[in-house]
Amino acid sequence: MTTRVRFAPSPTGYLHIGGVRTALFNWLWARKTGGAFVLRIEDTDQERSTAESVRVILDSLSWLGLDWDEGPGKGGPFGPYTQMERLGLYKEWAERLVREGKAYRCYCTKEELEEQRALLKARDPKATFRYPRTCLKRTDQPDLPFVVRFKSPDAGSISYRDKVFGLVTTPNAAQQDFVLLRSDGVPLYNFGAVVDDIQMGITLVARGRDHMVNTPPQIMLYEAFDAKIPDFAHLPMMLAQSGEKLSKRHGAVSVGEYQAQGYSPRAVLNYLARFGWSHGDQEVFSLDELVAAFDWEHCNKSDGKFDAKKFLAINHEHLKTPRLTGEDEYVDRLLPFLAARGVPGLVRERVLHVLPLIRERATTFVDAADRLDFVFRDPPVVDPAAAAKFLGPASAPLLRELIEVLRGVELWTVQAIEARVQAWLEDKKLQIKDVAQPARVALTGRTASPGLYEVIEALGRDRAIARLTSPAASPTSP
Ligand code: GLU
Repeated sequence: MTTRVRFAPSPTGYLHIGGVRTALFNWLWARKTGGAFVLRIEDTDQERSTAESVRVILDSLSWLGLDWDEGPGKGGPFGPYTQMERLGLYKEWAERLVREGKAYRCYCTKEELEEQRALLKARDPKATFRYPRTCLKRTDQPDLPFVVRFKSPDAGSISYRDKVFGLVTTPNAAQQDFVLLRSDGVPLYNFGAVVDDIQMGITLVARGRDHMVNTPPQIMLYEAFDAKIPDFAHLPMMLAQSGEKLSKRHGAVSVGEYQAQGYSPRAVLNYLARFGWSHGDQEVFSLDELVAAFDWEHCNKSDGKFDAKKFLAINHEHLKTPRLTGEDEYVDRLLPFLAARGVPGLVRERVLHVLPLIRERATTFVDAADRLDFVFRDPPVVDPAAAAKFLGPASAPLLRELIEVLRGVELWTVQAIEARVQAWLEDKKLQIKDVAQPARVALTGRTASPGLYEVIEALGRDRAIARLTSPAASPTSP
């Protein structure tokens, strides 16, 4: 049987990186086994679900390269893939359970249930209210709104072998007669998810371990429908350094933020794959390597702490390693960040040419754009403190001489420039440090830049000379 896995986000906000980890593990398993990765939108929380959030989720998954085989925008044999478009199906399946005596209509109002709960709490504040099955034996069918409740077993237990946590057993007595369908026909999460997972032929359900409480009632539903129970894999939680659940308060948690910060999508996937899964001591993976190496056996049971520094280090590794980010892709991703800075005269070929200047050091595409800004902006943005320190009258004669040296370079290559400048320095009994910082500030506006000779080469003779000629003419802000 081919593997069919799914990612079933609720579109109530941005796509959280914890959610991406779930999507990724499902996707990796589908790609590894040659199965299908299904995307389903669980939008039954009508108050919190928005079309904008659906768009963000689809865009984020697309940016990450987690392509789905069936789902919104793609179609497939089991659609529609959005729950609010499937209400007819839930009604039909709920009625079937009612007909078979496995579920029943409950006419109790919210107020009645609240009253019962309050009474119980007054008697015993620690007691947990469970629906007292008031409507279980009811045979009339009044013309009143009703919910459909599942008739949970009173005894026995549910056991399943989780692919990460091993054998999990929960006594059925803990389960109350939970609601399947609300009076407006909208399913509750457990019911909607199981109906969909059965109807869509899902063979393995992988999700955060915060959903483990839902697995026993879901298995009860599979049994009620006489459906094959899928495999389950629950994944450890992503926590903040403080040990709390990772949220916005702890920094960037949405995919969109990392995209905007100039992360590579594959570095995001690499970091998230290593979060809760390991493959020896390998930290850096290409996507193909992840697909080949991924398994459930090496998923951790224990929750992990999100480490922003490590995430950045992985991104840096992806950006500087040609095997992980090819030159063309690098430039494609970098160009919009340069454009966003209002850098004039952007030509793809020139960006490609100057890429080696910053490739080793840039940790993100935002950082790369910042480091390359001076190449394209004429005059460059000058750091006033750097100018005050290095571009005083003392350096002017040296820079004038350097200009003459550069005029004498024949073939404009890094080696030729270096050879000429070195010869001049030796001749004048100067050291490179005497001239490097003033020249660097005049050429780039900053005290830290790529190698001086590389910078001179990248700018081209005319622009290098122009900048060395009148460095002070440069504005101090963009
Ligand atoms: N809509 C649920 C969520 O976003 C899906 C849970 C599941 O995968 O079953 O948490």
